[in-house]
Amino acid sequence: MVEPLTMTTSPQRERAIAEAGFNTFLLSSNDVYIDLLTDSGTNAMSDNQWAGMMLGDEAYAGSRNFEKLENTIRTHYGFRHTIPTHQGRGAEHILSQILIHPGGYVPGNMYFTTTRLHQELAGGTFVDVIIDEAHEPCSEHPFKGNVDLAKLDRVINEVGANNIPYFCLHTTVNMAGGQPVSMENIQATAELCRAHRIPVFLDATRAVENAYFIKRSEAGFENTSIADILLQMCGHADGCTMSGKKDCLVNIGGFLALNDDELAERARNMVVVFEGLHTYGGMAGRDMEAMARGIEESVSYDHIRARIGQVEYLGQLLIDADVPIVRPIGGHGIFVDAKRFLPHIPQNEFPAQALAAALYVDSGVRGMERGAVSAGRDAKTGENRLPRLELLRLTLPRRVYTQAHLDVTAESVIDLWEKRDRIRGLKFTFEPERLRFFQARFAPVGAERVLDDADPVNTQSSSLTDSRESDQAVTH
Ligand SMILES: *Cc1c(COP(=O)(O)O)cnc(C)c1O
Repeated sequence: MVEPLTMTTSPQRERAIAEAGFNTFLLSSNDVYIDLLTDSGTNAMSDNQWAGMMLGDEAYAGSRNFEKLENTIRTHYGFRHTIPTHQGRGAEHILSQILIHPGGYVPGNMYFTTTRLHQELAGGTFVDVIIDEAHEPCSEHPFKGNVDLAKLDRVINEVGANNIPYFCLHTTVNMAGGQPVSMENIQATAELCRAHRIPVFLDATRAVENAYFIKRSEAGFENTSIADILLQMCGHADGCTMSGKKDCLVNIGGFLALNDDELAERARNMVVVFEGLHTYGGMAGRDMEAMARGIEESVSYDHIRARIGQVEYLGQLLIDADVPIVRPIGGHGIFVDAKRFLPHIPQNEFPAQALAAALYVDSGVRGMERGAVSAGRDAKTGENRLPRLELLRLTLPRRVYTQAHLDVTAESVIDLWEKRDRIRGLKFTFEPERLRFFQARFAPVGAERVLDDADPVNTQSSSLTDSRESDQAVTH
């Protein structure tokens, strides 16, 4: 089906972003033209998935859709037990609670917002052991998500393997710009952990995208199918947490999958308290059916090549215009380097947040911040964390937009690049205690407007979009 898009005028967008406290998470989607906020739950489901929705077995216990989901996960991810959850953070919560003891350390290849918070709520401390190149937006390392084995070894020696409940391996690494991990590195990391009896859990949220990069760039995998690469990746791990809202091509859902019988029992004991019975977790039967079908579709080479091909198309348009973005282009979106885009805005005035607000004002395209606001405050000192990467993320929903939408997006980013000195920094007017990026409110520093713009790109009247009337719809 198609869904009409709303076009707004520049004064409407100025008003909308001010009412949203200059936080794109607080905009009404009615006021958004092209929505690149996230690839989470924004997937368009296929005819096959929608047909599956009609076959929901909504039995409270033992739904046949759960059996199908569990079998599909065994086939494609290889893990024996599946504990369904309402989404990824439900799985992170359960895993953190059953494995982490207060005072434990959880090493991983860069933090993720919800993952780290659940580790901290369980009394653990996250330790970043990703390679240095991951923090460098210009490094062209093809596997920037790789674990630095020397760093991991040092952490094990310093805190002791007994104080490391598990290793958290992100495939791909969202916060580094959707950067992949090589199979060689996955294997070496798993071997080092196994030698110290440390379990390895994947954040498999975008493991299929990771598998595509392995096929494309790692010697020896050119002729291996995406499905086989995925299975090999998972074969090095003891289990995974999954946000089904990304690779699995659905709008809601997630799971914890693992091999150990005893640990699975403990997870099932937790899921009934926080999510739902162990055969639905927080999903309807029809949602589990759609996810099972989505997993089967997700490992198709043509699907994943087209999906990442769209990301590369948008990225190349920006590279050609010299807009500073994270290189190489990652799996799920384009990450604009706000430090280089807005060198006149200090990091404590949140350049990436300001850039997201200015982009919305310019054209109605919605992106999101991945920088100091997302990083939050240090759990122990209470100080703002100021990460090396200060990024505006333009995330592509799967199977939703056309190339023309990407052209409009690129034109607006390039337009902003040319008038970048007119963008102002932001300060907090409201700061939530946890995962603050979702609900924080801001005001421009020393001005009313985030973008001091005499000549806005107006989607109502500009030539930018008049020629693309037919693109005012999006598949869903
Ligand atoms: C989205 C995401 C999560 C959390 O999943 P939700 O479904 O949003 O709860 C965890 N890890 C990564 C890498 C993610 O991108």
